[in-house]
Amino acid sequence: MAGGCAPRVLSTRHLLLLLLLLATLPLATRGISRGAAAWTQEKNYHQPAVLNSSSLKQVAGGTSISGMWQNDLRPLLIERYPGSPGSYAVRQHIMQRIQRLQADWVLEVDTFLGQTPYGYRSFSNIISTLNPTAKRHLVLACHYDSKFFPHWDNRVFVGATDSAVPCAMMLELARALDKQLLSLKNVSKPDLSLQLIFFDGEEAFLHWSPQDSLYGSRHLATKMASTPHPPGARDTNQLHGMDLLVLLDLIGAPNPTFPNLFPNSARWFYRLQAIEHELHGLGLLKDHSLERQYFQNHGYRGVIQDDHIPFLRKGVPILHLVAFPFPEVWHTMDDNEENLDEATIDNLNKIIQVFVLEYLHL
Ligand SMILES: [Zn+2]
Repeated sequence: MAGGCAPRVLSTRHLLLLLLLLATLPLATRGISRGAAAWTQEKNYHQPAVLNSSSLKQVAGGTSISGMWQNDLRPLLIERYPGSPGSYAVRQHIMQRIQRLQADWVLEVDTFLGQTPYGYRSFSNIISTLNPTAKRHLVLACHYDSKFFPHWDNRVFVGATDSAVPCAMMLELARALDKQLLSLKNVSKPDLSLQLIFFDGEEAFLHWSPQDSLYGSRHLATKMASTPHPPGARDTNQLHGMDLLVLLDLIGAPNPTFPNLFPNSARWFYRLQAIEHELHGLGLLKDHSLERQYFQNHGYRGVIQDDHIPFLRKGVPILHLVAFPFPEVWHTMDDNEENLDEATIDNLNKIIQVFVLEYLHL
């Protein structure tokens, strides 16, 4: 501390007076209300409602990899860097796939201009929310933009694992669980619901740097931090309402492993591991061996730069489902449909769908 100015010590009398005054003020006019303090902490104590074998079989039978491939994934496998015609087409596709469902999704497009090495560009995040006024949301997220690469030998970069597949997995999850998610509509005021975020502009235009990357997630994290939640709240914002941000990235290559990255979400990582074992035990996973389990016991000490970073910095609990080591085809023209592994994607669909149902007690 600079300077020699000591704070004035309050006399006991003043202190008593202050306490008395505080006691007479309504709770909400102080720093934080008691109710808010409670619900913002609920995420720390939240427990899953573990599904039994017959429910696991039902979930595994309810998801369709061929349907996902045809209806969700293929339309995403085009060039779709921010502001491109493909970006617009993919945005329409994602929204149409969600709009036709029965569950009560509220869609929002968050469009803004961001400064890039090529000047100002337009970006659009897509946010799809069930029960927007629910205090808490489990959030699944991916990025829908593809990295900009000049065309090479008539080939176009389509970023199949990066991140067309994660986006398609989220769309298939919304479809496969539509009935269960629709039931949230009938709960008059649910405390906990689901949100899907499709980020734009994850990729750098030129070279990855704090300025040239994560355009959409940086913008949305700042915006959500300044948006009161529940609507009208004084001391809490939309980030307090994020129970857990589950970010999917670089998924679709064969034999992926996912490290356990964050101590404060480790118990949810172990839940994914347990679901993987249970589904395996029931013979519900294809071409899968426990020696090569997806959710590994090891951690990773470095920092993986991705869309979770702006939220992590603002205190949101993160579950980062990123294949590490990265797929061999990462940021090459070979990150395409041909090199995807259908069985792996189908298995991960089942695991993540069970995880979401258990988290939401559905
Ligand atoms: Zn990438």
